[in-house]
Amino acid sequence: MTTATITSKADALTSYRVSEEQVNRVILREHDAIVASQTTEGVGYTVEYNPQFKVLQCSCPAEGGCWHKRATLAAIAIKRVAAKERAARIAEEKEAEATRPASEVAEQSAIEELVRMGTDRETATRIILAKPYKGSGKGKRLDFDPSFSLLKK
Ligand SMILES: [Zn+2]
Repeated sequence: MTTATITSKADALTSYRVSEEQVNRVILREHDAIVASQTTEGVGYTVEYNPQFKVLQCSCPAEGGCWHKRATLAAIAIKRVAAKERAARIAEEKEAEATRPASEVAEQSAIEELVRMGTDRETATRIILAKPYKGSGKGKRLDFDPSFSLLKK
């Protein structure tokens, strides 16, 4: 069993033979983990790495292997997968940012400028991305009746 092959949450659950419900009972801390007991409400066991014996140890009364240790390992693996996905997404966004056309970058900074000046983002986006008016202004509207005016007395 190696964590190197775990690429998803489902992988982690299968590899460590634990359920999602069990993993949800794990609270990872900096140097150990607290795993809430399934059988005794309000009881939590501490799982920690023993560097001397290079093993995980659990404070529960079970002899030998217990699911607390497996769930902790699964939780760590799932956290790693999530971190990797997050890093990949950030790298992708940076890549997209770097390859964006200059006109798009200019639009974005114009939007940011309006937002800084107090316009809400939606309105700023609409203003900046609005297509410029292409008509000559002299075109005749088909439904326009020149004899009609609200101002006529
Ligand atoms: Zn245990």
